[in-house]
Amino acid sequence: MASLLSSSLAPAFGLKEGSSECRSPEEMVLFYRREFGRAPLLVVTNREPIVWEGAGHLSFPPGGVTQTIHRLLGMVGGEWIALRDSSGPDLLRISPPRESPEAPGYLLQRLSLPDEVREAHYAGFSNGVLWPFFHDDPERVGELRNSFEAYLHVNRRLAGKVLESLTTLSPGVIWIHDYQLALVAREVRRMAGHHLPPLAFFWHIPWVDTPSPRDTAWLSEVVEGLLFHDRIGFQTEGYRERFLDTVRRLYGDRASWDGESLCVRMESGTRTLSLGVYPVSIDPAHFDRLARDPEGTRAAREVLREADLLGPGEDVRPYLVSVDRMDYSKGFLERIEILEALFTRHPSRIGTLSLLQVAPPTRQSVEAYRRYSRQVEAAVGRLNARFGRSDWVPVKTIARSLPQTILAPLYRFSSGALITATKDGMNLVAKEFLASQKGGDGVLFLSRHTGAAQTMEGLALIDPFDPVQSARLIHQGLSLDPEIRRRRNDRALASIERNNVCRWMSENLLSLRSSPAPILR
Ligand code: UDP
Repeated sequence: MASLLSSSLAPAFGLKEGSSECRSPEEMVLFYRREFGRAPLLVVTNREPIVWEGAGHLSFPPGGVTQTIHRLLGMVGGEWIALRDSSGPDLLRISPPRESPEAPGYLLQRLSLPDEVREAHYAGFSNGVLWPFFHDDPERVGELRNSFEAYLHVNRRLAGKVLESLTTLSPGVIWIHDYQLALVAREVRRMAGHHLPPLAFFWHIPWVDTPSPRDTAWLSEVVEGLLFHDRIGFQTEGYRERFLDTVRRLYGDRASWDGESLCVRMESGTRTLSLGVYPVSIDPAHFDRLARDPEGTRAAREVLREADLLGPGEDVRPYLVSVDRMDYSKGFLERIEILEALFTRHPSRIGTLSLLQVAPPTRQSVEAYRRYSRQVEAAVGRLNARFGRSDWVPVKTIARSLPQTILAPLYRFSSGALITATKDGMNLVAKEFLASQKGGDGVLFLSRHTGAAQTMEGLALIDPFDPVQSARLIHQGLSLDPEIRRRRNDRALASIERNNVCRWMSENLLSLRSSPAPILR
């Protein structure tokens, strides 16, 4: 059935058979129909894609990937299962996108959990253990206490929801996301007494470089859980390689990899699955539009005024922009060291270049995050006191979330973006900056430790662990001929346009229907 649909529908849709070419949201839907026909989609994530504002009113928080999946699901129909993040009913019917009122929309199933379970899953294991562990930050890995049990419990509850959905829904594929949900597929397979649709998983964060032996017990569960999918997607070749290393370490010669399929003999049976490399991306045309939108531009100018970055004639004072959740993996402290080196070694930048950092708080229930926020605040205070003048402040912090309608013009007005993550699965801000700069000469100073640095060409890469060299690159980059900067941006943007978020989605799901891995028990 699947292959019949594929061959009969592909030419009508103008998409090449077996290809994942997909340039626009409309093509994304055509791709899905070609692959899965009229079958709906079932998505499982930790966080839900909406915020219940009360009285039936919903808002849609930013986040390119979530909004892309939300849009696809609204167009093709199906269900989204997630942990509840705000009040309102357990079941919500989400309308289709405004431009396609005839599309089916989807059902959002919101799983409610006791606060202490949710906290142990989210702050305890997911963000207190897994996040620092996979970001190669063993010092910040918290105590397990009972948080692994909570993690398992939440994954099981979500698996139960999936099985409930499967009693009424026959999805073309079940798409599960990220490190908070590594065990859902295993639990679904254990509980299901029947054949399942293909299970795809995307691992959004890095894979660990050098795991320490003390983590082996829970790590083997997480890896085993992942092996219960039919496909796992990673952001970069490097992360996939490291995942394979971990699998080999745990399973020895019971694991074999032929470059496409991984086959592992486990106690419960043999599993065969594909491992793909699909760098997450954005819709660059959308950011280009936002960056030029008059209303967003006005709002962005207000933010610049608030930050003292508008001169007397309303001219924008030169600034670098950073946009990150207040997370230690984003290298806030390293960024301050880079600025210190910049102002010390290149004093012409004192009084002439500021940093505007948009830094919304995140995961404040995790102690490591609260401590980090305090350290960053103190470091910014020291830098500002040392180099600031009565008419100029080196670093301006906006400690709240700004909508992308404002971020895009802020990217466009800036002289450059300074991205200092010490480890980052992808870093979408880098791509958003380039898309918003379209035709502009603002310079992207991108940390080499991001997935984005591995997947875009021709950029000035900095190393946040080397502040002096990074400062030199910033000084030089800003002094380059504008035409050279523009050409460099054009080249990087062309690669984002080719590898946009629609393509990411389609590559994740390509040919899954026709080749679900058999469950051999
Ligand atoms: N973002 C936003 N408002 C903010 C800060 C961030 O909308 O105030 C968005 C930003 O545009 C980007 C995402 O949050 O789409 C951050 O993605 P990234 O991959 O850079 O980092 P992550 O937070 O996923 O680690």
